[in-house]
Amino acid sequence: MGSAATRSELAVARHVAPENFQTACWGEIDAAPYWRRGICFNPGCCAPFEPRRDWQMYCSKACERAGVSEMRRWGHRLALPSLIHRIGKYEAKDDAIRERTRAARRHIAQLQSAWLEERQTRAGQVRS
Ligand SMILES: [Zn+2]
Repeated sequence: MGSAATRSELAVARHVAPENFQTACWGEIDAAPYWRRGICFNPGCCAPFEPRRDWQMYCSKACERAGVSEMRRWGHRLALPSLIHRIGKYEAKDDAIRERTRAARRHIAQLQSAWLEERQTRAGQVRS
């Protein structure tokens, strides 16, 4: 490599993939966890358990797998409207794109509400 190499050519490749939510926002999550320590996060279980790690949310591997499956199922439904919302977020002129962006945002909110309601229903069924 000669002296003609620029600073950017010598730099380490930029890391473009963002970390997952739990890693990127660990400080905020640590200050306000979204699960109750020692209560399984799987709304179909909600069993009390003794966590082996501070961040352990599920009582068993089966419940963890159920949680991953739930995230995939809802995440798949949320992915496209999330992308479409972000694509049009700063559109200032095209009314059709602005309306499509609002529709995507509304759809995301509806999915979030439906997901939370489903979890609450499942948790209610466990407790009754
Ligand atoms: Zn469980």
